[in-house]
Amino acid sequence: MKQTFVIIFIALCLIWSGIFFLRQSNKDLIEHNEDINSLPKKEIVSVNKSSFPIHNLKDILVSNDIYQNRKILNEKIGPNYISEVLNGGFVIRWNEDTFPLKIYIGKCVGCPEYYEKEVFKAFRHWSAISDGYFTFDFINVPENADIKVLFMDSEGRVCNGNLGLSGLQSFSYTNNLLTNVSINLYKKDCSANFYRQDLFATTAMHEIGHVLGLNGHSPYEDDLMHSAHLNGAVDASVADLNTLRILYSIIPDITNAEISAVQKSKLVPRSKIW
Ligand SMILES: [Zn+2]
Repeated sequence: MKQTFVIIFIALCLIWSGIFFLRQSNKDLIEHNEDINSLPKKEIVSVNKSSFPIHNLKDILVSNDIYQNRKILNEKIGPNYISEVLNGGFVIRWNEDTFPLKIYIGKCVGCPEYYEKEVFKAFRHWSAISDGYFTFDFINVPENADIKVLFMDSEGRVCNGNLGLSGLQSFSYTNNLLTNVSINLYKKDCSANFYRQDLFATTAMHEIGHVLGLNGHSPYEDDLMHSAHLNGAVDASVADLNTLRILYSIIPDITNAEISAVQKSKLVPRSKIW
């Protein structure tokens, strides 16, 4: 029987004194120009292409004890928060055979010029920091997109003082195949101001992190995928990248195209760590 499920994640953005945001389930997106270097380089996140995903993970996780395997992950791969990003215990991610993913970025009418640019830039930056593992094509037809990014007017949004929702991420799936993956971003914060460029950039990076498969938040404040950031510009951390590398080394439960037998033979069953 054909069953369709719709999952909506809510990005709760906390705008405090107009300078930062907090997201609770999802994130916000932003990107700017061609200037990829505007994001801070406090942590170098670039990984060897050969290690994205982790080709020898299957050989590392030989134990049948998931706790032992998680310990091994920490020791061999480094900081990560893989157990936080399995959505209901499921691995939801894209099939690399379908890269480049097709991205549609809507028009942000009346917005600062940097809004749409920051979204473009964030996608490009994810591609750069994964050493070209993730690739994206930008298209003009939303119906053909794997991921749609849309901008929302803020009327009707519930705010608690300066705190409020900044974006929504949603996807549906039918027979374990992803459909209708989208990110919706509010144009203005709860003070009815446009988001500052560096905040918007961080939000863009964070939201794309969610949509790439990091369906949860890091417990560590310095990670891009932490639920709250008090500073404007935050780049992906080693832990963010490691978690994504692990995620793409596991056989997904929900994806956008069937994982082939050849692919599966190189991947780790989810049961090894969950
Ligand atoms: Zn988030």
